Amino acid sequence: MSILKIATLGEPVLRLRSRELTRDELTSSETQAFIDSLIATMRDADGAGLAAPQVMNPIRVCAIEVRGNNPRYPYKPAIPLTVLVNPVLTPLSEEQFDNEEGCLSVVDLRGSVKRFAHIRVQAWDRDGALLDFEARGLTAGTYQHEVDHLDGKVFVDRVTDPTTLCTWKNWERHRKPAFVERATALVARFGQ
Ligand code: ZN
Repeated sequence: MSILKIATLGEPVLRLRSRELTRDELTSSETQAFIDSLIATMRDADGAGLAAPQVMNPIRVCAIEVRGNNPRYPYKPAIPLTVLVNPVLTPLSEEQFDNEEGCLSVVDLRGSVKRFAHIRVQAWDRDGALLDFEARGLTAGTYQHEVDHLDGKVFVDRVTDPTTLCTWKNWERHRKPAFVERATALVARFGQ
């Protein structure tokens, strides 16, 4: 297991559509070791998630985990470690909410992005077993952010109002209180 280099905006790999894995590729010792490193790198960087192309490997794999009091996203509800392989997300309602996102590949920038409030997540887990579950609210937003990476999309592509873009320091100063209030209401409503 190793800590991998995180690609930042402008690396062409972030703009590729990553390719599906076969079950044989997934269960190979090479891919399993890569997934261990992806998780270790996400944890090392205090990410809420990390997608394989963000560490220069354009395959459809991402890891998501929010442990209590993540320093980057203290308002996010906990998500147990989840590895998605070849994921497919389907919105289950039209409702969207404004999520203020950051990204390990977009250094020192946050911005407001529309995300579906209720989605279905279908994927394999790291052993190739089928996952099929629903996610709501901020947690649904985290899944959409990570799966976007597998399609070569970065959150800045979805920022419709560029005046919401700000550095992390200015986000803390000027946008955090209002967003945390909205985020807390979402968590209360969805329980996740
Ligand atoms: Zn990201």
